[in-house]
Amino acid sequence: MSDTGTGSKHEFKAEIKQLLDILVHSLYTNKEVFLRELVSNASDALEKARFESASGSEVADPELPLEIRITFDKDKKLLVVSDTGVGLSRDELMENIGTIAKSGSAEFLKKAGEDKGGLEGLVGKFGVGFYSVFMVAREVVIRSRSIRPEEPAVVWKSDGLGTYEISEIDEPMKRGTRIEVHLKEDGAEFAEKHRITSIIKKHSNFISHPIFVEDERVNTIPAIWREPKFSITKEQYGEFYKFLTFDSEEPLETLHVSVDAPVQFSSLLFIPHRGMELPFYGKDRYGLDLYVRRVLIEHGNKDLIPEYLGFVRGVVDSEDLPLNVARESLQENVLLHKISTVVTKQLLSHLQKMAKDDKDKYADFWNNHGRLFKLGYSDYANQEKYAELLRFNSSRFEDAKGLVSFDDYIERAKPDQKDIYYVFGTSREAVALSPHLEIFRAKGIEVLYLFDNLDEFAMEGVRKYKGFELQSVEHADPGSLEKFETLEAPVEVEPLEEQDKEPFSAFLEKLKNILGERVTEVRLSGRLSQSPCCLVNPDDGMTSSMQKILQIVSKDTSIPKKIFEVNRDHILIRNLFAIYKTNPEDDYMSAAVEQLFESSLLLEGYLKDPHAMVLRIQELLNKSSGWYRAVAKGK
Ligand code: ADP
Ligand code: MG
Repeated sequence: MSDTGTGSKHEFKAEIKQLLDILVHSLYTNKEVFLRELVSNASDALEKARFESASGSEVADPELPLEIRITFDKDKKLLVVSDTGVGLSRDELMENIGTIAKSGSAEFLKKAGEDKGGLEGLVGKFGVGFYSVFMVAREVVIRSRSIRPEEPAVVWKSDGLGTYEISEIDEPMKRGTRIEVHLKEDGAEFAEKHRITSIIKKHSNFISHPIFVEDERVNTIPAIWREPKFSITKEQYGEFYKFLTFDSEEPLETLHVSVDAPVQFSSLLFIPHRGMELPFYGKDRYGLDLYVRRVLIEHGNKDLIPEYLGFVRGVVDSEDLPLNVARESLQENVLLHKISTVVTKQLLSHLQKMAKDDKDKYADFWNNHGRLFKLGYSDYANQEKYAELLRFNSSRFEDAKGLVSFDDYIERAKPDQKDIYYVFGTSREAVALSPHLEIFRAKGIEVLYLFDNLDEFAMEGVRKYKGFELQSVEHADPGSLEKFETLEAPVEVEPLEEQDKEPFSAFLEKLKNILGERVTEVRLSGRLSQSPCCLVNPDDGMTSSMQKILQIVSKDTSIPKKIFEVNRDHILIRNLFAIYKTNPEDDYMSAAVEQLFESSLLLEGYLKDPHAMVLRIQELLNKSSGWYRAVAKGK
């Protein structure tokens, strides 16, 4: 084919150059994935061609069969991948091959930048698309003819070093794209039949369009989800899973089901072992592949599965949808909604079964996918099942690894207990310091430990479980806990003398004076045993952690006003009270009160400026060291 004189030379965009630079100089050993990328693009192009024809618009070469053909010439070190898909016009070539593709490449670049030298795995995992061909090619020539009959055929050439040339072809060419890969010296293996065939079988076996290598069809196991379950081996499931996800591990769970009512579909779903990073997989990458009668309609359809089950990968194939259903109209499709409802129920039941039959496996699942799963708090239709599947760490365990469900909790609850208690903290260590927990510890009541912001949303979403209210320990009314026996009595000091009770109230007023507008109230605490004081929310509408989340959202940096509760039986408070009785205006006492207040703020995560605190501690130490020196002498 000869080029017309309309050729022109162009520079790749900066980001493409960067990507090419990484790929061209890559020492990545598993270069064969470039063929997977070319075949996958060809397959996408064939799908698009089928849509165009089905939608009734005029198309070039309507009689062409939809297929991919691979030819090679070992002596010339040449590999050619052709398809009869939609093809590319001149503008499309410049736009699509000249900019970074949406899916894999951008993420790849980001990761490659973060972790130098760690290309191994990245290429395979993300799929860097068309450009990966430059790992093996010294030159690539694309010839393409668009499906739109009026578009002339074009040729594109590049050595992947920074520029490409593009021009029109004046000789006749049939619809589709033909990619010539002129291999580098060390890439000659990719012009060998057995090598090509084995790569296709490994990475592209489940492509639904026929792939021919020199007239021999090589992809042979299509649509295993349509086959009866018993006829498929574990190996075949594993192979399909790896093709689908680029994962190198076996799936954690495989779920193969056919349904006839209320809607007909077959599905083959997998739960991967490893957790996918939340923003990456959870948000954008989730979805199931939608097929209609074995023909792929859409990759990663998000209407087939709710986001919180987004860790699930797989396919759904339905007879009930028309083949020419337009992608745009899929969203409002009632059938998809029905399928999604059934798929969700099946997955939840499957997880319930797994939780019952194999606790370790479920824990494995939870540790990898639990975070995403928690987003299910808004799935009201399945709330009971959702709540049943939640897991938390709790006061019952020695470390942060242990997991309990609401059901486990209820089983161990006290006979009269009507609440499930939880506390939120950034870690187990932080939670252990919470003064709010003391009364629960003293009474031997289990408390769920929440370390993840999403837990808080889960709690807000569920609110009630099998007759038990979910109750944050901050909001628990100490009066309601009185009915439970105290296991270990606090032995700090003797109870307050009767005649001291009134002066103590005055002392509390004094504390309110010292703290002023920073607290709403100072009062006696019924919940503390080891700590001298704590902060309590005045309205019990919201937990501190939820308050913090909302503050972040609204960029509010103020410190919320709370109730300052004081433990009358704590030695420190008693000492301050004694000082107060001698001199209500004592400086040491007021400094100590300031210090106690700021320590409480610190524990709740509200202290913004620790400098004042450092100075104060210094002063308090000055004073107390003088006292201690006198005492120590006598020892
Ligand atoms: P992605 O496939 O993720 O979009 P690629 O880098 O693999 O990214 O491909 C970039 C774009 O080039 C594709 O989106 C498509 O528009 C176009 N393209 C690549 N190969 C072909 C082909 N064989 N036929 C038609 N268009 C293609
Ligand atoms: Mg691609």
